[in-house]
Amino acid sequence: MSKPRILTGDTPTSTGLHLGHYVGSLENRLRLQGEYDCYFLIANVHAFTTLAEKPDEVRANTIGIVKDWLAVGLDPERSTFVLQSEVPAIAELTFLFAMLLPFNKVMRNPTLKTEIEAKQLGDSYPFGFPMYAVGQCADILAFRPELVPVGEDQEAHIEMCRDVALKFNQLYCGVGNRVPPEEHAKAGGVFPIPRAKVGRVGRLPGIDGVQKMSKSLGNAIFLYDDARTVQKKLNKITTGRQSPTEPGNPSNVLMQYVDAFIGGQGPEGAARAAEIKRRYAAGDNIGDGHIKAELGEAINSLLEPMRQRRATLDGPEGDARVIDVIRRGTARANQVAEETLSLAKRAMRLDFGARTLG
Ligand code: ATP
Ligand code: MG
Repeated sequence: MSKPRILTGDTPTSTGLHLGHYVGSLENRLRLQGEYDCYFLIANVHAFTTLAEKPDEVRANTIGIVKDWLAVGLDPERSTFVLQSEVPAIAELTFLFAMLLPFNKVMRNPTLKTEIEAKQLGDSYPFGFPMYAVGQCADILAFRPELVPVGEDQEAHIEMCRDVALKFNQLYCGVGNRVPPEEHAKAGGVFPIPRAKVGRVGRLPGIDGVQKMSKSLGNAIFLYDDARTVQKKLNKITTGRQSPTEPGNPSNVLMQYVDAFIGGQGPEGAARAAEIKRRYAAGDNIGDGHIKAELGEAINSLLEPMRQRRATLDGPEGDARVIDVIRRGTARANQVAEETLSLAKRAMRLDFGARTLG
């Protein structure tokens, strides 16, 4: 029996991934990589929503992010790495799905609204910016996955993707309105209705303590940051607390990091995190500086093996390895996506013969 599928991915808006990606999505990808047939997509076309004037940057970021995937332990022998711009079926499905989504519903999408605000896009963003939310439905559905490991910020997008799949199956595949989502595929729908799988920490705040940690907001600790940079960034966090005996807010950014990176280290880590938080809330002689140092150690011990693996991918040889991995994965991915497109076209009565482009 074939394994159920996973699709998820990252946009190459920066040279690498950060701790938010790790706890929000990468950990799940690593954990599920054996059980599922995984497709990991680099959304390089979507990077042009904000970087249209910087094609060289998008290209370098694409390579950087795949290096991080390899450094974290995503395995191209077990999983398929997909380059969005080389999967034509995704672009075609985007157009078809755009017909099923009310314009105002896309524009009201809370993830888009938050991004426009956080990235200070004002009203100058391109048409392609809201389009990316529609495109993301196609990224996902092209692979007919059951599960999409993402951070909390993506839940609204996944909901939209589910809506598209439900509507498609009902309109074109004769699936009744009362059929529950989990039975759509069995009832003849082209698309299984995918579910979001949010990570251990759904929304890790950035070191600014306000926004979510984000590649584009200058508030991220990157997986490739060296030990000193990690510590320097942690030291920048401000909590407004004046002394080790002042009771602190047990849910501020520092404590969220304690939960994520000290608490995440097995039962001992969980006990230590609980103790820190208790003493912090009580103002029991525990300073922010001390906590930052302890956090620095925990985060650096998590990141050190990744840094070492990433170092083996430095330079042009590393780039060549990455490009090879992407090419091979994308070829595999195109087989699945083309199959999906032809199923979708048949359902939409658009099947006027085999696809011949030559
Ligand atoms: P950008 O600022 O360009 O939007 P990003 O940092 O938000 O970049 P994405 O490529 O948009 O990164 O997101 C990739 C995946 O990582 C998504 O599943 C997203 O939900 C998850 N993710 C991103 N940031 C966080 C975070 N701070 N906490 C948890 N998950 C996150
Ligand atoms: Mg994002």
